[in-house]
Amino acid sequence: TAVLHIVGGGMAGSEAAWQAAQMGVDVIIHEMRPKVGTFAHKTGNLAEMVCSNSFRSDDSEQNAVGLLHWEMRAAGGLIMSAADAHRLPAGGALAVDRDIFAQSVTARLMAHPRVTVSYEEITTLPEAGSWIVATGPLTSAGLGAAIQAETGREALAFFDAIAPIVYFDSIDMSKAWMQSRYDKGETEQERTAYLNCPMDKAQYEAFIDALLAAEKTEFHDGETAGYFDGCLPIEVMAERGRETPRHGPMKPVGLTNPHQPEIKAHAVVQLRRDNALGTLYNIVGFQTKMKYGAQTEVLRMIPGLEDAIFARLGGIHRNTFLNSPRLLDDRMRLKSRPNIRFAGQITGVEGYVESAAMGLLAGRMVAAELLGQSIAPPSPMTATGALITHITGGADAKTFQPMNVNFGLFPPVEGMKGGRRGRKDRYKAYTDRAKEHWHAWLGQTALDAA
Ligand code: FAD
Repeated sequence: TAVLHIVGGGMAGSEAAWQAAQMGVDVIIHEMRPKVGTFAHKTGNLAEMVCSNSFRSDDSEQNAVGLLHWEMRAAGGLIMSAADAHRLPAGGALAVDRDIFAQSVTARLMAHPRVTVSYEEITTLPEAGSWIVATGPLTSAGLGAAIQAETGREALAFFDAIAPIVYFDSIDMSKAWMQSRYDKGETEQERTAYLNCPMDKAQYEAFIDALLAAEKTEFHDGETAGYFDGCLPIEVMAERGRETPRHGPMKPVGLTNPHQPEIKAHAVVQLRRDNALGTLYNIVGFQTKMKYGAQTEVLRMIPGLEDAIFARLGGIHRNTFLNSPRLLDDRMRLKSRPNIRFAGQITGVEGYVESAAMGLLAGRMVAAELLGQSIAPPSPMTATGALITHITGGADAKTFQPMNVNFGLFPPVEGMKGGRRGRKDRYKAYTDRAKEHWHAWLGQTALDAA
């Protein structure tokens, strides 16, 4: 009978193995630890949490990551079941006792009659058989090279450079305006690709002061990072010269402010549409290592962003990830080698929870395939579906960077107003709708797999 091979027993690999085994497929997990380590992992356990011990908000009515928890629980997920069993008090967040959590995931997989763990590093992309590659942000160098040989160098990145992302409906359009530089672009899509926020000289100087003063995070020990051209953090640019950002991402040329056409802006911050729905905009060139608290404070100094709500904040991390919009089909298969699926953080999602969710999806899809069935991807109205739709289709391949789950990825609910008011009702409507669609998808899966 067919066997599923999973490379990497982290958040995604562990969940994928569990789902496939529960559906009746034999699984071999190939995990390089403890023989080969990473700078962040400390043990040989499966599903080791490398940094914080939090799965973030557990609110499945008002929070997109909480909804992802709910969806994984409804699907009988191993990661959520172990997290719930070893939960620590943390208010509305789901924090876990990390050692017992990882030990319990490891023990439950080892005890499963259909799961075997083989402790070895895999350094090639196998030609035959069914494989899920879930080797995470710290994929070993040998396998990274093999993936690049298959996909091309440009399609596998080793660092992310994440610019902060803002909900469109939280931007003050009485100050900002839509225009692409030099009015480039023929179609409506291209003309609404950019938003502009103007600054006068005093605002610019105050902004540079705040950038320089803001608290920054350091790279982790062992995380060697060189900044490469094109993705210097905005604050490092300001350190190189107070005028440098104004000649770089904040240059005021090729733009006319319709609110004040007679005044020439001293600097302009540009935001670029980040998803096809037009609900999210990223601040162009503003990848940053400012701490999260400092970041929101500094960015809200930008005229038009005073009340900005951030779908995600910026960062720069060691992170191996694929250009998924280009390389993967909607069932997470490598288009050029459909016997290989990718799951977890390497697909360009970010976070323990998102990674586990992508493992859950890959595990179910491949198991169905091996059992002679097929599962359609879940609706984009579910949290899992919104994520997979974004990374395999909704996001722009040219500027692709990793993404957390957030409501900006969901198709708007008919008849609900945007803006700050009504946000609670809107989020509740998103999560109610998601739960219905998720139940339908799980029912479908059970039928198909039966
Ligand atoms: P992992 O959990 O990393 O699992 C991948 C597994 O593959 C590992 O066990 C690894 O040993 C194995 N492996 C790699 N290469 C090979 C190979 N060639 N052969 C066999 N096995 C291999 N997320 C959060 O939500 N909160 C945080 O606070 C947080 N902090 C982070 C800090 C650091 C320093 C890093 C690097 C990441 C952090 N992340 C955080 C992201 C987090 O790592 C991921 O969200 C999550 O662990 C990814 O799950 P995964 O299954 O894709 O990868």
